[in-house]
Amino acid sequence: MLIVFFLNSFYNGKKLVNSQLKYSNEVNMEEAMVQTAQWIVDSKRVVIFVGAGLSTESGIPDFRSPGGVWDRYNPEDFYYQNFISSESSRAKYWEMATEMYGSIKKAQPNPAHLAIAELEQLNKLDRVITQNIDGLHFKAGNTPEKVIELHGTALFVSCLHCGHRYERDEIQERLLQGEKAPKCDQCRGPLKPATISFGQSMPEKETAEAFSRAAGADLFVVIGSSLAVQPAASLPQVAKRNRARLVIINRDPTPLDSIADLVIHGQAGAIMGDIVLEVKKRLGN
Ligand code: NAD
Repeated sequence: MLIVFFLNSFYNGKKLVNSQLKYSNEVNMEEAMVQTAQWIVDSKRVVIFVGAGLSTESGIPDFRSPGGVWDRYNPEDFYYQNFISSESSRAKYWEMATEMYGSIKKAQPNPAHLAIAELEQLNKLDRVITQNIDGLHFKAGNTPEKVIELHGTALFVSCLHCGHRYERDEIQERLLQGEKAPKCDQCRGPLKPATISFGQSMPEKETAEAFSRAAGADLFVVIGSSLAVQPAASLPQVAKRNRARLVIINRDPTPLDSIADLVIHGQAGAIMGDIVLEVKKRLGN
């Protein structure tokens, strides 16, 4: 069954590379999955670090892939400084955010989210550090203390003046009724999704926790991230410097593939589903 999956993977153009071992055929694809499962079983502190690629199979587009968000919007319109200083930037930002929240609202966790939630149930997850703002780890069953939301959440909105927090659904309703750049009911300050934009400070507590968990990991697994966004992209390097094994599971190559112990190029859902099946087998579940 597993071999069939990886044969399919191979013929679908997925490939695996490894800086130390040279895998070149479909049987070794299976070896890579089995190796990752064994590392999960052997490790005491497994830290998973995910990006937008984890949620594309749930119907939420990533930023950089063809057809992704940056194909339709100009990233410069979304710099925090522009949001603060211009009403028209705020309106553009909210237009993109309204579209994205539409996909987030109806999205369901895919097999990769469910596999990560299963790792928690198996007591094999130290933390999942997510760059995603879609809340799908919670829908999949991860508990809040295991999830570090590094870039905030789209499920809430905050006032940039008085800090008043709103449920996103309430503001979405106002946007769908025609408001372009909603203001706070309490103080008329500008409202913004509780997410981190380019140029906005990273949340202190979550960032410190993410770096500390990366430094303490003995296995660090990246899933679905281009590793192009700082400071998040330096987390795998921190883990590696502190002697963790590094596995990267991503559809396309990343700038850190050369320092990884294992790189699997393919679809996160199928790969993570099979890895966790193998983990369960090895743990006797
Ligand atoms: P990115 O868009 O830069 O890169 C996504 C990566 O995922 C790409 O390298 C692509 O090859 C890979 N990928 C796409 N689908 C995949 C799949 N099914 N399986 C495996 N790999 C797949 O994403 P990023 O690195 O997370 O950085 C972008 C920023 O955008 C993040 O800060 C994040 O906050 C934000 N974002 C979040 C969401 C979300 O919450 N779902 C969606 C879009 C963007």
